[in-house]
Amino acid sequence: MTATTDLVPYEEALASYDPVMGLEVHVELGTRTKMFCGCSTELGAPPNSQTCPTCLGLPGALPVMNASGVESAIRIGLALNCEIAEWCRFARKNYFYPDMPKNFQTSQYDEPIAYNGYLDVQLEDGTTFRVEIERAHMEEDTGKSTHVGGATGRIHGAQHSLLDYNRAGIPLIEIVTKPIVGAGERAPEVARAYVAELRELIKALGVSEARMEMGQMRCDVNLSLMPKGSEKFGTRSETKNVNSLRSVERAARFEIERHAAVLNSGATVVQETRHFHEDQGTTTSGRIKEEAEDYRYFPEPDLVPVAPAREWVDELRRGLPELPLQRRNRLREEWDVSAHDMQSILNAGAIEPIVATIEAGADSTAARKWWMGELARHANETGVEPGALPITPVQVARVATLVQEGSLNDKLARQVIEGVLAGEGGPDEVVEKRGLKVVSDEGALTTAVEEAIAGNAAIADKIRGGKVAAAGALVGAVMKATRGQADAARVKELILEKLGVTES
Ligand code: ADP
Ligand code: MG
Ligand code: ZN
Repeated sequence: MTATTDLVPYEEALASYDPVMGLEVHVELGTRTKMFCGCSTELGAPPNSQTCPTCLGLPGALPVMNASGVESAIRIGLALNCEIAEWCRFARKNYFYPDMPKNFQTSQYDEPIAYNGYLDVQLEDGTTFRVEIERAHMEEDTGKSTHVGGATGRIHGAQHSLLDYNRAGIPLIEIVTKPIVGAGERAPEVARAYVAELRELIKALGVSEARMEMGQMRCDVNLSLMPKGSEKFGTRSETKNVNSLRSVERAARFEIERHAAVLNSGATVVQETRHFHEDQGTTTSGRIKEEAEDYRYFPEPDLVPVAPAREWVDELRRGLPELPLQRRNRLREEWDVSAHDMQSILNAGAIEPIVATIEAGADSTAARKWWMGELARHANETGVEPGALPITPVQVARVATLVQEGSLNDKLARQVIEGVLAGEGGPDEVVEKRGLKVVSDEGALTTAVEEAIAGNAAIADKIRGGKVAAAGALVGAVMKATRGQADAARVKELILEKLGVTES
C-alpha cells in the first residue's frame, strides 16, 4: 500500500499559505431518455439492457440531441447567473477507456452553453461568500465498470472487470468554478457550502434529484497553495469524484495539509488526479493529469450547433422558481430565526417538512420545535431524512393543534408522536388508544393539588412565606400523581391560589 503522507497541521499550513480552489461538479440530469439517443435512463435495470447502437458507439449510428437536456442546462445556467451562449457546439473529447464505448466523450470544450456566473453561498456563521462560475457545459456520462476479485474494488489487483453501459450517454452538466481565492482557512467550508447550495439549487430547479450518495452529483476538488502574499497560483491537485458534502470538506482540508508539507520540504507539487478515501479521510495519487491537447478536442460533426432563441431563454428565465438562498432568507424573516438557526434547519433537512407543517395549519414556532427537536432526533437515530420519517406534516400539525387547544401538553404530545412513529395510527388514534389527554377536569386537578399540599407541608409553608419558586416541587408532585396528564401551567396557578400567594 501507499506510504503515509507527510502533513503539516492545518493552522500551521494556513499561517504560511493561501489556498486556491477550483470545484468541478457533475450533475446527472433526470431526463427520461439519454442525451443523444432514446434509451431510458431509469436506474436499476439489468446491466446493458438500456443501450442502443448510438450509446454503444457502433459504426454508422448517429446522435440526436435531447431538447429537454438542453433546456435543463440553460435553466441551470440562468439560475447560476450565467450568460447563455447564442450559438455553441458539442466537441469530441478523445480518449480510450473501456467504460466509454465510442472512445470519445461528447462534451463541450471552448463553447459552453453557459458561462460567467456566480453562486452566493452561506457559511455557518451566516456570512455570504460569492463563488464565481467559469462555465456550465453539457456532456454525457460514461458507463460503469465494476472490478471484481480484488480487495479494494479498484482495478488494481482485480481479476476481471464488468462493464454496464446503461449509464453511458446519460446527460451530465459539468459546472466549473473560477479559481476560488480569498477564502483562507475557510476554504474547506466554502467548498462544502458551495456544493450544498448547488445541490439545493439543482433540486429546486427539478432537473435532478442530485443525490450524491447515488452518484447523481459528484465533485472534483482542485486545490493548490501559494505562499502568503503571493498572487501566483501554485500547481494544483485534482481529487476526483468526491461524493458527499463532508468528504468535499475533508478532501480540501487534507490537500491543504499535504501540499503544505510538499512545499515546505522544498519539493514541487505534482499536477495529478487523486482519489479520496472515505474511511481515512486521505487522498492518494491517481494519474498524471492530461493537458487539454492530449484529448484532441474537435467540434462534433454529427450534431447541429445549439442556438437557443433569445425568446426561449427569456421565457426560461421568467419560469425560474424562487432560488434556495432567497427562499431561506424569506423564510428566515417569516419565522424570525437567526441565520445560524436557519443553517441548522437546512443541515437537518427540515426545511420542507417545516414548510409543509405550517401549510397544514401549525404556527411556525411549533412546527420548528417538533421537527428540530423530537423528530430530528428520531431521524438521526434511524438514519433517515426527517422528511422520510413515518409521520406526515399534516399529522405533526395536528399534534401542534392539540397542544394549542390544551388537550395535550408537551410531554403527552411527545408520546403521541412516538406512537405515530411506531405505526399506531394518526395522532387522534394514538391519543385514543393510549388514553393520553390532559386532565382538565378542575375537580380532579383540585383534589390532586390539595393532596400534594397536604403531603408536602414544609414546601407549602415556604411558598406561603413568599418563596414562589418552590412551587415547582409541588407541580412535579401533581404531574406525577396525574401521570403527566395535567396542564402544568394550570396546576401552578391552582397551587398558588390555594396557598393564597400571587405571583409578582
Ligand atoms: P481540467 O478539466 O483540466 O480539470 P478545468 O479548467 O475544467 O480543468 O478545471 C480546473 C478547475 O480548477 C477550475 O475550477 C479552475 O478554476 C481551477 N483551477 C485552475 N487552476 C488552479 C490552481 N492553480 N489551483 C487551484 N484551482 C485551480
Ligand atoms: Mg477537471
Ligand atoms: Zn442508446
